[in-house]
Amino acid sequence: YAAKQRQSGSQLYSPSLDAGSQESLSLLGELRRAVEGGQLRLFLQPKVDLRSGQVISAEALVRWEHPQRGLVPPMQFIPFAEQTGFIRQLSAWVVAASARAWRQARERGQVLRISVNLSTRDLMDQDLPLKIRAAIEAEGVPPSALCLEITESAIMDDPARALSTLEQLSAMGFKLSIDDFGTGYSSLAYLKRLPVDELKIDKSFVMAMERDLDDAKIVRSTVELAHNLGLSVVAEGLETLRAWQILARLGCDEGQGYFISKPMPEAQFVDWLEQWKPPALDAEDPPESLF
Ligand code: C2E
Ligand code: MG
Ligand code: MG
Ligand code: MG
Repeated sequence: YAAKQRQSGSQLYSPSLDAGSQESLSLLGELRRAVEGGQLRLFLQPKVDLRSGQVISAEALVRWEHPQRGLVPPMQFIPFAEQTGFIRQLSAWVVAASARAWRQARERGQVLRISVNLSTRDLMDQDLPLKIRAAIEAEGVPPSALCLEITESAIMDDPARALSTLEQLSAMGFKLSIDDFGTGYSSLAYLKRLPVDELKIDKSFVMAMERDLDDAKIVRSTVELAHNLGLSVVAEGLETLRAWQILARLGCDEGQGYFISKPMPEAQFVDWLEQWKPPALDAEDPPESLF
């Protein structure tokens, strides 16, 4: 029964819902009450420097703690929130919660950068940069402590408008990152004009690179591309020690993935951080040549 309920839950929040339907309207009400009633949860996933093993930042990933359905993953409500425009309120909640998490870590002596995901509708909002800055300044967080992750498709929906928002954010001192790099449809000619600081290699390539030579080549080329453009590069989906070794050898700057930690409730994060010990990479045999 529980499995069945979960299944119907995932259908309820599917992006194929007709935005004008009765069902959709009641979902929107539910989502609004979720934000106002404190049902959203901030999870954090660490990102490490692949050379030193030190945690230098964390990605904010939202979950909905639904009174009946339990912890609902973001892919079951983010697309719906994006379709209905409710994503703006949701993003505002995530930014404010991330700023609080940053300040709490700071009070315990941990200086981190926090990455927050933004969607197309966020980028279309010309007031977004000022809103984000006001929200984080209220918690004493400098813009340079916040990195905003944007997918290629979010940018390509309306490139001119996205570029204007990104330029404002960059001028204010926020860090900018292209998420899921390699899965979208942006052209390199366009990407090079964006004021971004970081590329995140999509986890599909990283998770497959140990068994598929083409994926490994894509990872290697993306690291080179990023560095040639003066950007830092992050691998998501780092699930094994061997993946860490390969990525470090390719010169990838940072890694994020289940091998280091799954996303965890924010309350656990600082404790996790205090006990984190990077693996002894040198003691392991270096991976044989893959390429
Ligand atoms: P994303 O921004 O690309 O985030 C990375 C996703 O990969 C997360 O899934 C994370 O849990 C997962 N992941 C990280 N390491 C590994 C790994 O080693 N193996 C595997 N299999 N997965 C890994 P999650 O938390 O379910 O989030 C999915 C997507 O939902 C995110 O992808 C992002 O696009 C969106 N999302 C999450 N939170 C927010 C938010 O606050 N706002 C917006 N606009 N989107 C969000
Ligand atoms: Mg992301
Ligand atoms: Mg990603
Ligand atoms: Mg992704």
